[in-house]
Amino acid sequence: MAHTEEPLLRVSGITKSFGDNRVLDGVDFEVGRGEVVCLIGPSGSGKTTVLRSLNALETPDAGVLEFAGGQRIDFGARQSKQQRAALRDRSAMVFQHHNLFPHLTVLENVIEGPVRAHGVAKVTAVTDAERLLDRVGLSAKRDAYPHQLSGGQQQRVGIVRALALQPDLLLFDEPTSALDPELVGEVLIVLKELADEGWTMVIVTHELGFARRVADEVLFFDGGVIVERGAPKQLFAQPRNERTRRFLDRIL
Ligand code: ADP
Repeated sequence: MAHTEEPLLRVSGITKSFGDNRVLDGVDFEVGRGEVVCLIGPSGSGKTTVLRSLNALETPDAGVLEFAGGQRIDFGARQSKQQRAALRDRSAMVFQHHNLFPHLTVLENVIEGPVRAHGVAKVTAVTDAERLLDRVGLSAKRDAYPHQLSGGQQQRVGIVRALALQPDLLLFDEPTSALDPELVGEVLIVLKELADEGWTMVIVTHELGFARRVADEVLFFDGGVIVERGAPKQLFAQPRNERTRRFLDRIL
């Protein structure tokens, strides 16, 4: 998709090694406002490491992130604590395993971030949380504990917890891969609704059918580089690269 306006995020030259293992080797891409970008590719190709870098959970050896509005992080240079915190505040991550606090209720899990990290008044955070829980059909579960919910419900609470932080960018790390197959659909429906509402999302996923329906752009990773990128229609139907073709042949 061609962008006339400044992208929400521009990622340039991300490089990362773990010891001698170079896992990312110059990754560049852009995320436009309201766009959904899906990262696909074989296991170990670097997708999660890229995603975690966007949220300061991983620190690349080199590369630059530029957010609209002028925030710039150069991983080649030293960053202050404030810069890392500012980077973390731009986005919210939904993990493969929901990472809910087991000793807190659903509602308490959702308001924890806004109240503790953002200093939002508790009464405001509760009102926001109730609205968001209603949106994903979980109002009735507000006082339940995570272990009383199904895996799909837990993951939907995980998504609400990310939304409650009101980030510019939502990051999803294989949000359905820990779920039983019959629970995947309800989580993908929520993701599709968020996309339709205009949330900007970067999603690492093995759900290629989902990526085909929802992504504006698909990035195919292999060996720490983006081997091919494009609109899903083109990339899935007519992959140009041999490695993309082989991957899709195996999966589809
Ligand atoms: P993907 O998400 O595509 O499966 P990852 O980004 O998780 O790939 O991993 C890319 C490579 O980096 C893999 O070889 C993985 O073993 C390695 N890796 C990821 N995290 C670490 C870490 N903390 N320490 C050492 N190696 C890591």
